[in-house]
Amino acid sequence: MLSSATDSLGLLQQIFGYDSFRGQQQAIIEHVAEGGDALVLMPTGGGKSLCYQIPALMREGTGVVVSPLIALMQDQVDALLELGVRAAYLNSSQDWQTAREVERAFLAGELDLLYVAPERLLTDRCLDLLSRGKVGLFAIDEAHCVSQWGHDFRPEYLQLSMLSERWPAVPRIALTATATTATRHEIVQRLALTDAREFVSSFDRPNIRYRIVEKNEVRRQLLRFIEDEHAGECGIVYCLSRARVEETADFLCNHGIPALPYHAGLSAAVRSENQARFLREDGLVMVATIAFGMGIDKPDVRFVAHIDLPKSVEGYYQETGRAGRDGLPADAWLAYGLQDVVQQRRMIDESPGEDLFKRRLQGHLDAMLGLCETVNCRRQRLLAYFDQQIGPCGNCDTCLEPPEAWDGTVAAQKILSAVYRLWRERGQRFGAGHLIDILRGKLTERVQQHGHENLSVFGVGADLSEQAWRGVLRQLLAQGLLCVDTEGYGTLALTEGSRAVLKGETTLMLRREPEKKSRGSRSTGARRKPELESLPEEARARFEALRAWRAEVARSHGVPAYVIFHDATLREIALACPQSLEDLAQISGVGVRKREAYGEELLRCVRN
Ligand code: ADP
Ligand code: ZN
Repeated sequence: MLSSATDSLGLLQQIFGYDSFRGQQQAIIEHVAEGGDALVLMPTGGGKSLCYQIPALMREGTGVVVSPLIALMQDQVDALLELGVRAAYLNSSQDWQTAREVERAFLAGELDLLYVAPERLLTDRCLDLLSRGKVGLFAIDEAHCVSQWGHDFRPEYLQLSMLSERWPAVPRIALTATATTATRHEIVQRLALTDAREFVSSFDRPNIRYRIVEKNEVRRQLLRFIEDEHAGECGIVYCLSRARVEETADFLCNHGIPALPYHAGLSAAVRSENQARFLREDGLVMVATIAFGMGIDKPDVRFVAHIDLPKSVEGYYQETGRAGRDGLPADAWLAYGLQDVVQQRRMIDESPGEDLFKRRLQGHLDAMLGLCETVNCRRQRLLAYFDQQIGPCGNCDTCLEPPEAWDGTVAAQKILSAVYRLWRERGQRFGAGHLIDILRGKLTERVQQHGHENLSVFGVGADLSEQAWRGVLRQLLAQGLLCVDTEGYGTLALTEGSRAVLKGETTLMLRREPEKKSRGSRSTGARRKPELESLPEEARARFEALRAWRAEVARSHGVPAYVIFHDATLREIALACPQSLEDLAQISGVGVRKREAYGEELLRCVRN
């Protein structure tokens, strides 16, 4: 290691080039450096890696990092090597000689950090290797993989508790961005971390702006969002199915937005190729199922869009957390509509499995719907889900453009009585569209065929638009005041809660959706400009030049651009216009090694 510093702050400044710690980083680092066990809960992008990288540099021996992310180890190690940290990895993607060389370096005490996949770590050969060398600490990354309920479950993680038996004197630090109390308990228990100190950070990511819009033509809405606010920038679009991933990626490409698909149905080769391109190239959009993203530490993802309703708040928060790791402004954008609620309620009902399991899924969905329908601050609601309290944030759609609440009791009664009347004709499948036609008094073929123009509710809802009715219907479903009856051919049906509304015993406050606006006239409160446009013109030219230079260097080193410098760092250089190496040292993200390697070139780049 090339630093003269031995204390945590000195290492942060010299090696990583940052001037101060974030949140609890320093407390965690010192606790582990002194030999304590730790459980670290920090949001995605919060800065977990430093919490084990710096103690590994402070302690004698090698920091062994257990991580399930084989495909990303190479990039992680490259990033450390660029900083002058002696790092390597052992996993199945390597050939035999390379692995031998890594083993030799470890035994010779030449490594600060060694990344290992859990299945590799648990082999006799690897355990034996670690016993013969000197381990300074164990870091267990993505520790929630030990949770059998989570979607990232890895059976090998269950065996990691043996580390404490075999190396009782070596500190262990487990890290995750999954924060519910249940998961936390599970990690402590299964990894034998009962004596570990817990560090729970604020889960707030203030630079991410949360927005949830009503879905109508979702692909067009998505296209417009990207074109208007994130032209030329990097982002992730999440969908629930493979087919939807493919069709959305095609759609974007056909409209001039470079996009790649990623889902479990693609071959491993295509997936890793697409992932590598996303990490290495500027301005690509990844359209993916939730199979994509764990451990992706690309710092300049400017937006995460969901075009299908996520299944839980936890998942949603992890996925959106992949935006804006560099701390610059970023967007989390979700489009959601009536069909999402119907579909997901139905999927849960029809899923095989026990009632307890279904109730769990139902609970997750209800929390997600609560977030979508809230008239209060989104961030407040999100953080409350992780038991953290804050005031209104000022950086979400409901803070920036507060929605109106209106008394929807009468409208709800109209819908519920229509549902009640149709319910008697069970055996027919009447969807939401038909119901709304009846309420609005539309004489469609279907209406006439069933004589529904004779129902007493026919035409009682002509005062509201179709879009407004869909909003009411969706909110009733979201609140459990209506349900999808799966036995009755997916017809809408009343619930226990409907009765009180029908009888007028409760008042129902609903969220008013802004009526659809034409492209020219829509409001702009929650929208933003692409990052680049927010720089003054001169700085913008410098920033472009710096990016071009970085792309060249990254290509010749075979690493992603952000491994050389983050956008945030280039931005700061473009703005500050440094004249000397001393000036450069003041820039966040320029450590000793990078200043030596790239300082002169950076100065030249800025001068021109
Ligand atoms: P996590 O693993 O928690 O998702 P990372 O460890 O990848 O987050 O850190 C997120 C980003 O923040 C990285 O780009 C990292 O370099 C940066 N970062 C971490 N700590 C600091 C700090 N103290 N000052 C400035 N940037 C930091
Ligand atoms: Zn808010």
